[in-house]
Amino acid sequence: MIIARTAVELRAALDSKTGSIGFVPTMGALHIGHRTLIEKARVENDVVVVSIFVNPTQFLAGEDLSKYPRREEADFKICQLSGVDILFYPEVDAMYGNDEVSIKAPDIRGYILEGAVRPGHFDGVLSVVIKLLNITRATRAYFGKKDAQQLALITQMVENFFMCVEIIAVDTVRESDGLALSSRNVYLSASERIEALKLSASLKRATHLVMQGVRASNEIQRVMFEILQPLDVEYVAIVNRRFESISEVVIGDTIVLVAARVGTTRLIDNVWM
Ligand code: AMP
Repeated sequence: MIIARTAVELRAALDSKTGSIGFVPTMGALHIGHRTLIEKARVENDVVVVSIFVNPTQFLAGEDLSKYPRREEADFKICQLSGVDILFYPEVDAMYGNDEVSIKAPDIRGYILEGAVRPGHFDGVLSVVIKLLNITRATRAYFGKKDAQQLALITQMVENFFMCVEIIAVDTVRESDGLALSSRNVYLSASERIEALKLSASLKRATHLVMQGVRASNEIQRVMFEILQPLDVEYVAIVNRRFESISEVVIGDTIVLVAARVGTTRLIDNVWM
């Protein structure tokens, strides 16, 4: 596995390879969710590039940038064992200069739900993703459905800017008890870890309600809120794949999303119907 720390090093590494490039961008502290993306990239491409970069521009003031988990050695091993060809591991100044051209998330879709709670977060996400997609010359790039709004906005950016990369959505990987894997789960104490199960439990209940024929979004949201008590719920939302709020679930075009704080840890989860 080649480790590249700058765009120039990455380009040199890529020049020694041929064929399709599968790219998995991450912020490290790799878990089985990340590994699932990497494995899919491995199966579908000749060359696999993974980036590990805790992107400062997507963290708001007061968020967990400085304490975001960093696991360099373990991450390198996981990449090596997963058959990654090139690991891109840049410092901040290898990614950003002064007075740059800026990328801004769309006014509505970028500033609702996650974008409302974390205004400007998606500007930072899109800024780093466009850089990474360009540096890696990715044929295909892999993103988790767990970050559904991020996935939708990246897909939109690729369309809006006529970029030549295929965005591949990967199902959320969960622990056996339902908790969606997240690098932030390490912040949870044992009792918070149990409380955190309310997120996936509420989504499971939403799925059951829909299977029983319930379609009204407000009814599903009401039941979910009940299950989520006493967590500090930021939102429970029911949207279509374009992230427009919908009053009735339409099978095949609905995403049910939840964001809540468990102690001081912010968790998100969703289910696609
Ligand atoms: P992160 O390191 O949190 O920025 O995540 C990197 C990529 O992994 C993103 O595309 C996430 O959506 C994806 N991801 C994170 N958690 C999971 C999960 N539990 N299942 C599938 N993909 C995930």
